[in-house]
Amino acid sequence: MGPHICDNCGTHSEWRPGWSWYGSHIDSEDNTVARTCSPACRDETTDAELDAVVRRRRAARDTTDLTPLRAHRTTTQEMTTDG
Ligand SMILES: [Zn+2]
Repeated sequence: MGPHICDNCGTHSEWRPGWSWYGSHIDSEDNTVARTCSPACRDETTDAELDAVVRRRRAARDTTDLTPLRAHRTTTQEMTTDG
């Protein structure tokens, strides 16, 4: 496993105390979980947002879409539910 990437702010780092992940154990094995690098980032995200990240990765089997949620928020508030 390489460095982890925070789904909220985009920080790359090794797994450290404060990081948390969201998803099922299957997602954990498939590396489709959502991750946050600190309690602050976890507080900034909602379960729904993290759930959407997990679902997107699970659907696409694509772990390369790593646009941080924070970046999504500051652009368009687009919430597509197709899929
Ligand atoms: Zn973060």
